[in-house]
Amino acid sequence: MSSYPLTQHKVITMEDIDAAVKARAKSLLLRDGAILTPSAQEGLARHGLVVERATSAASASGPSNDWERLFATPEAEAIKKEICAVGLKLWQRQYVDGNGGNISYRLTDSAVICTPTLVSKADLRPEDLCLVDLEGKQLAGNRPRTSEILLHLEIYKNVAEAKAVVHCHPVHATAYAITGRIPPSCIIPEYEVFVGRVAISPYETPGTQKFAETVIPYVKTHNTVLLANHGIVCWADTVTHAEWYVEVVNTYCWTLTIAKELGAPISRIPGEKTADLIAIKQRLGLPDVRLAGADAPICDLAEPGGITAVPQVRTQTAAGGMSASDKEAIVAAVTEAVLAKLKSIGNP
Ligand SMILES: [Zn+2]
Repeated sequence: MSSYPLTQHKVITMEDIDAAVKARAKSLLLRDGAILTPSAQEGLARHGLVVERATSAASASGPSNDWERLFATPEAEAIKKEICAVGLKLWQRQYVDGNGGNISYRLTDSAVICTPTLVSKADLRPEDLCLVDLEGKQLAGNRPRTSEILLHLEIYKNVAEAKAVVHCHPVHATAYAITGRIPPSCIIPEYEVFVGRVAISPYETPGTQKFAETVIPYVKTHNTVLLANHGIVCWADTVTHAEWYVEVVNTYCWTLTIAKELGAPISRIPGEKTADLIAIKQRLGLPDVRLAGADAPICDLAEPGGITAVPQVRTQTAAGGMSASDKEAIVAAVTEAVLAKLKSIGNP
């Protein structure tokens, strides 16, 4: 061995020098900014070792730092294969086009595996994938990460249960996203249980932090958000499940569109029966805005003769503040709390 990799360390000690000498190294490969203790400096000079600096973590060849080692663990390799399989499913189902769509998985509290930019999801190979931290900085991988990782990271930061995120552009769900409408609920059981009422986030330029933040108000109470004039994003406990939710929501939107062509009114599952479905959903631990204490009705009404419903919260203020319906909900909650308090004072 000529160059001994130590890029995982910020501080190089005499122990590291001894290990390098034992490995018959002629030089040490250090990360940018790594410092040597005085004894390590003395040992370096004594053994005539040369220092090389890696320009970035990813530039070191082989599993030469902690991140690269994490990225090469059997768990990470299994996730990479799952991401590639899901990428192929997305492409085969025509949920992505060109190099569109992206997939990620939260491997640890501080590291996320994601797809690279500019690769068709049909052609993904495990060696194409990337590892990033929660700020989007690339930690490992041979290709640059997707620019849309910021969207995924906001979901991970805001939803502890989210382990996997899939973003894509399935035609039928995207049709809803470009009309600013959501599909009405209480029509098909699978949709109620696995997805339920979706939200729609306001438009922003894809790939930007501002775009990533548009979903924050919705992701705790929805596992699927329609992205205005863009596509959809789903989160789940596994990459495979996140892709299932894409299938469920897109099939639902497609079915509604076909049903409209039949020209007959769509029948609805009664509200009390839908409540059964929401109870199943609760047992499965899936989020739903109707379980979040909101005073939203179980079934939202489709527009007359139509297959769309007005989203509950359609717009956010420019400052990211509350919508009118958010404010109404807070006023109602505060009023209820005040009345309850007055009641308890009146009846000690
Ligand atoms: Zn996109």
